[in-house]
Amino acid sequence: MEININYKKNEMKKELQLLRIKGTILRPGNDGYEDARKIWNGMIDRKPALIAQCTDGDDIAACVKFARKNDLIVSVRGGGHNVAGNAVCDDGLMIDLSKMKTIHIDLDSKTAIAEPGVLLKEFDAATMQFGLATTGGTVSDTGLAGLTLGGGLGYLMGRFGITSDNLLSAEMILANGDQVKVDKDNYPDLFWAIRGGGGNFGIVSKFEYRLYSFGPNVVAGMILYPMDKAKEVFQFYRDYIRRAPDEMMSYAGFIVTPDGIPVTFILPAWTGDVKEAEKYLAPLRSFGSPIADMITEMPYLQLQSILDAAAPAGIRRYWKSGYFIDLPDELLDIVLRNVAARPSPLSPVLFFHMRGAAAEVETAATAFANRRDQWDSDIISQWLDAADDEKNISWAKNFWKEIEPFTNGVYVNHMGSDDDPRIANAYGENFERLKAIKKKYDPDNFFRMNNNIKPA
Ligand SMILES: Cc1cc2nc3c(=O)[nH]c(=O)nc-3n(C[C@H](O)[C@H](O)[C@H](O)COP(=O)(O)OP(=O)(O)OC[C@H]3O[C@@H](n4cnc5c(N)ncnc54)[C@H](O)[C@@H]3O)c2cc1C
Repeated sequence: MEININYKKNEMKKELQLLRIKGTILRPGNDGYEDARKIWNGMIDRKPALIAQCTDGDDIAACVKFARKNDLIVSVRGGGHNVAGNAVCDDGLMIDLSKMKTIHIDLDSKTAIAEPGVLLKEFDAATMQFGLATTGGTVSDTGLAGLTLGGGLGYLMGRFGITSDNLLSAEMILANGDQVKVDKDNYPDLFWAIRGGGGNFGIVSKFEYRLYSFGPNVVAGMILYPMDKAKEVFQFYRDYIRRAPDEMMSYAGFIVTPDGIPVTFILPAWTGDVKEAEKYLAPLRSFGSPIADMITEMPYLQLQSILDAAAPAGIRRYWKSGYFIDLPDELLDIVLRNVAARPSPLSPVLFFHMRGAAAEVETAATAFANRRDQWDSDIISQWLDAADDEKNISWAKNFWKEIEPFTNGVYVNHMGSDDDPRIANAYGENFERLKAIKKKYDPDNFFRMNNNIKPA
């Protein structure tokens, strides 16, 4: 084993001249190497043999061919935000796309072409200059690339569908190094697969999106309630939100305020005509006795960063997630008991409501299969000190064990850091088709540092 590893490293040195890219190549010890291998989840501490900071599709194709020749494992980094940490590999080639940040907006066709290093905050800021938007996620330093390839759940999905529903085409580098453009007419099977199938089928160097005239303002904000009213709040919330129109998106959940008070919150986000907002917010505003009501008219860009403070980069975390079709009392009791026992005040528990256009797309229309009115729920265990790893990971695992029987499928972008056996649940009836497409385009499973769909 040791001989093998040394042999490969020596071989790689000989071949190094063959990796020629316009971008930067970093090796351990080089300036910038340590920063480049860091990602959002501070638990991930992997050391690639090489980090290739690509500038375009040709650079990416050169990396793919080089890795094949040297039999290197490849990982692909977009925004580096995925909790599973597959953006970074040990001893292999990390293809780092974070420097590829060009965005082109075509005002006539209302479309945008973005490179894979673009973050949501950069994309939203660029399109909103022109009163245009498409569905993104809800934390602004998430990468557009990973988000789109896995699906993309955001406040605009009730109106415009998920992010990948708005993907019009993509330029990709396949496992054999070929560069292709995929859309509804070219490689339609690949185009179907990358709308939800993650990074399994190739590396995307350009994404083209449909944009919509939107904003600039929404009406949104958190309402906070004391924990001793949490059950009543959720009982009210689950009925209220299903009666509201599809423009009313929402989170509900549990956080600890910066001054240390555990609270229950509802975060409505009215994405329709701002003049209509109060009509639909009235039942919420008049419910119970909140500690604080921060709902107000605000720029869409402000809504897009409202949860940022709850997800700081670089700290330690462990995540469990699944969809709930309903939030029955029995589930609420379990959730409340576990929230009360959370070892770290940094750990939010969130329920994000999927509805409207996102839920109405046919299951087989794209790879993203779990389409229904439901909540995507996340136990986001977060802490600062490595000495606390065990208790925070156990808390999330035990909590999860109790609520998993109530879940129905999982969002692939929220699958966690250990070997999660639920990949089939993320795709349901689309799974077999995905495996067949994987076999056609990547029979050796070259792209395997991801939530992996193994070739049929
Ligand atoms: C705090 C937080 C909040 C989040 N909120 C939301 C949310 O509101 N809505 C939502 O839908 N999701 C959300 N997510 C999940 C998010 O969509 C995923 O973590 C997504 O994978 C992040 O993309 P990235 O490019 O930043 O990640 P990376 O870690 O860089 O990439 C993740 C994986 O995607 C693949 N990949 C990345 N770029 C490419 C590419 N160009 N070509 C091929 N494969 C590629 C690779 O397999 C890689 O391992 C959230 C995540 C976090 C941590």
